[in-house]
Amino acid sequence: MKLTVDRKACIKSGQCTYLHPDLFKEEADGYPSVLVDPVPPASRAAAEDAVEICPGQAIYLKE
Ligand code: SF4
Repeated sequence: MKLTVDRKACIKSGQCTYLHPDLFKEEADGYPSVLVDPVPPASRAAAEDAVEICPGQAIYLKE
């Protein structure tokens, strides 16, 4: 599975990097970058949670 962030939709709220620092890192410009590719099986639930909590609906998880 692969996580991606749509920068056009991201509002830089920081929830993803705060709640899932193993999956996301905040860059100097305030946007998150994805730290894992592919998403390890053990992190799948966390990745799904990140998709749900993102207020900008900017995080996508694809097979
Ligand atoms: S939770 Fe969503 S809107 Fe907030 S920084 Fe992460 S990707 Fe951007």
